[in-house]
Amino acid sequence: MPTESRPAWSRTYAPTALPLAAALVVGMLVGYPWQALALASLAAVAWLARQRQHLLAERERERRESRARKRRLVTMLRAYRALADALPDAVIVAERDSQRIAWFNPAARRLLGLHYPADLDAPLGERLQPLPIASWLAAGRMAEPLADIASPVDPAVRLSLRLVPYSEDLWLLIVRDVTRLSRLEKVRRDFVANVSHELRTPLTVVHGYLEMLDPADQPEWAPMLAEMQRQSGRMTQLVEDLLTLSRLESREALDEEQVPMASMLSTLRREAEALSQGRHPVAVVDDSGVDLWGSTRELHSAFSNLVSNAVRYTPAGGNIELRLARSEDGGAVLSVRDTGYGIPPTHLPRLTERFYRVSASRSRESGGTGLGLAIVKHVLGLHQAHLRIDSEVGQGSVFSCVFGPERVRSREGQP
Ligand code: ADP
Repeated sequence: MPTESRPAWSRTYAPTALPLAAALVVGMLVGYPWQALALASLAAVAWLARQRQHLLAERERERRESRARKRRLVTMLRAYRALADALPDAVIVAERDSQRIAWFNPAARRLLGLHYPADLDAPLGERLQPLPIASWLAAGRMAEPLADIASPVDPAVRLSLRLVPYSEDLWLLIVRDVTRLSRLEKVRRDFVANVSHELRTPLTVVHGYLEMLDPADQPEWAPMLAEMQRQSGRMTQLVEDLLTLSRLESREALDEEQVPMASMLSTLRREAEALSQGRHPVAVVDDSGVDLWGSTRELHSAFSNLVSNAVRYTPAGGNIELRLARSEDGGAVLSVRDTGYGIPPTHLPRLTERFYRVSASRSRESGGTGLGLAIVKHVLGLHQAHLRIDSEVGQGSVFSCVFGPERVRSREGQP
């Protein structure tokens, strides 16, 4: 029988009862049974007393250790609390399913206007109502960090929000004060916008006068005049592109309407043909039967940048194709395909940065400013769309503008 299943009394008394019985038997054999029993009893009592002493000492040691452990835990908890209190960022723990607030630090009161303890257990989205975050919270694990949002406490305070689902049932919302950073960013934006604006008038004057000069009047000046006209044209384009970018950057939303895509595509084709001057056949494929919803002006500027690139980076004789098609998710894709130089894969991730060029000389020679794809990216961002680039060196490139289903409208006159 295993020891554990024996009754407690048998476990306690068996070790003493057996030796006592043995002592009695031995005592009887030698003729002193009672003396032997008395001696053995004394020994048993002494043994039991020692056992008890051990037990008490052990229990005392355990109590001391548990007290020390508790003290260590309390110290650690206090340190964590002090850390959370000292954090300049607001930290909120929310339950994943109910989205109720489980805990928040003092910075959450300052930055988001939460009240302690009234807001414990309140629904997070509802409590932070002034922030446009309901659909963002719904995205959960997929939610991209939100940058530069006005604080519900003070609109001058700008916040960035980040959602971290850190366990099966808890979310962490981290909110950081980015006022200083946004101010610097605004200073930079304003500076570029102001410089471009200031340059625009003098450039227009210079460009205008240069255009008026006729090389035929001064044949020996003709090459210089042509170069000056070319360069002043380039500068004007650069200033226009910079102004377009700053205008797009300072917008959070655009005036939207149904964009008639049939006429958009024929305008783009005309522009491509004008730019190509017969060097490339331009095809248009439009089997989508839909229009887009957005800003006609900005979308035209984005698409025509792609068309201009296709013409400029495709040697004479190459093909250009504009295609509008539905995508599987019910959205639409406008793609510009060329059979031009193509782009090495290492350049693709950086292509939409301002002034990033694969070959600066090729870009300049063809009249590029290095800002075209940055403009495209911004315009698409304002339409919650994105740019996909597929390219192979020597084969050509496809630049696709991918729009979600919410941007698709059935074309007028069609079901
Ligand atoms: P740029 O004014 O220099 O054309 P963009 O921002 O429009 O500036 O494009 C950035 C760079 O991407 C270009 O300099 C070029 O190297 C590359 N690029 C853009 N479109 C194409 C294309 N269709 N084929 C090959 N390279 C391209």
